[in-house]
Amino acid sequence: MAQVTPEKAQDPEYGDGVTSLVEYVKDYRAGGHRIDTVIESVCAGCGGRVFEIGVDDEVGCAERLCVACDDSVLIADSADHWSEAEPAQCECPCGGSEFAIAVGFAPVADGSDDVRWVSIGLRCVRDGMSGVYADWKIDYSPSGHLRDMA
Ligand SMILES: [Zn+2]
Ligand SMILES: [Zn+2]
Repeated sequence: MAQVTPEKAQDPEYGDGVTSLVEYVKDYRAGGHRIDTVIESVCAGCGGRVFEIGVDDEVGCAERLCVACDDSVLIADSADHWSEAEPAQCECPCGGSEFAIAVGFAPVADGSDDVRWVSIGLRCVRDGMSGVYADWKIDYSPSGHLRDMA
C-alpha cells in the first residue's frame, strides 16, 4: 500500500475535517503496521477538540493541552515515559500550533486486543494540514486499554 507523501500532506486542500485526519492516520501506517482503531482526542473536562500538543518522538510520548480549558492529558502510555521526555511543541509548517488530534492504534496481530504501535496524527485548525508527528512502539501486554487513552 502506498504511503501518503509529505508533499500531499502539505496540500491544504487535502481532505476535509477530522474524517480526513482519521483516513490520513490509517494510510500513514506508522511503523508499517496496519491500524485497527483511530480515536479522536476529546477533552474530558469540556468536550473540546482543539489542542496544543508536545511530543518526544525519541522517547515516545505526547501530552495534549486543551486550548479551551487548559486541561492537560498524557496520551496512551505517555505517563510511563514522561519523566525522561524532552517534549517539543508541535507546529504546523504554516506556524499554527492548534490541532485536532487522532490517535492511531495498530494491533500486535489481526484481531488481537494488544497494541503494537501508537501514532499521533494532527490536523492544523488554521490550514487543515494533516501529519503524523510522533509514533512509538508498545511492547507489553495487556495493552488494549490504551485505545481508551487518546
Ligand atoms: Zn477542555
Ligand atoms: Zn497549519
